[in-house]
Amino acid sequence: MEDHGSTYLGLFVDETTFYNRIVLGSLLPSRVWEPLPHFLQTWLRNYLGGTLIYFLSGFLWCFYIYYWKRNVYVPEDAIPSKKAMLLQIFVTMKAMPWYTALPSLSEYMVENGWTKCFSRISDIGMLAYLVYLATYLVIVEFGIYWMHRELHDIKPLYKYLHATHHVYNKQNTLSPFAGLAFHPLDGILQAVPHVAALFLVPTHFTTHIVLLFLEAIWTANIHDCIHSNLWPVMGAGYHTIHHTTYRHNYGHYTICMDWIFGTLRDPLDDGSKKVM
Ligand SMILES: [Zn+2]
Ligand SMILES: [Zn+2]
Repeated sequence: MEDHGSTYLGLFVDETTFYNRIVLGSLLPSRVWEPLPHFLQTWLRNYLGGTLIYFLSGFLWCFYIYYWKRNVYVPEDAIPSKKAMLLQIFVTMKAMPWYTALPSLSEYMVENGWTKCFSRISDIGMLAYLVYLATYLVIVEFGIYWMHRELHDIKPLYKYLHATHHVYNKQNTLSPFAGLAFHPLDGILQAVPHVAALFLVPTHFTTHIVLLFLEAIWTANIHDCIHSNLWPVMGAGYHTIHHTTYRHNYGHYTICMDWIFGTLRDPLDDGSKKVM
């Protein structure tokens, strides 16, 4: 065995090895995954972890809004059909092996010292950590906004990639399972800002992993069509408008980028228009 512990980069390898052991060790017999090279172990861990999070968050959220709180958040006749949800699951599962190649690649680049990642918050101090984290999030907000907007504006990109996701363009067909229902390349392109940020700003490696997992949960959440008015969060109310107008609310976690670049449309404004 190579001794990684003595070098700084070894800290990253130790960490990813630890994640591999936890996830793969609890899901698979060791003879299946232990002989695999480290990169493949990492990919398999991301794939199984991503799939698990997708189904857990999807099922729990559906159970909560469609059954447990029946008619509270979603009117009975607006519950998406099983067929629509199964189709979204099918599209997602086809893409999942490709999606998870991206974080596997970014982990590989981190382990090899190509990025600006650091391993321990104590290496740079809490204040610097928070400043860098804020910068990272701004890069991700900006990057995803423009990536998403270009996926609409550049017609071939829309036609061959992003249209797959926009099949779900009505309230009654959008469900939490649509969150990751993209063409594989589309999903990867929209996650690229997370990887680009690693080269632009010093990033705490563990935080980067956590943020990627939060993506999977967030994207399920913004497809449930339930509008929660929590400024400046870009909740499902905004994203549902994106699915119906195609010209507004390209943003991700917050409404900031749409506000800055003039594409914001508020669900409440829409509501008042309907009343008049
Ligand atoms: Zn779109
Ligand atoms: Zn969407």
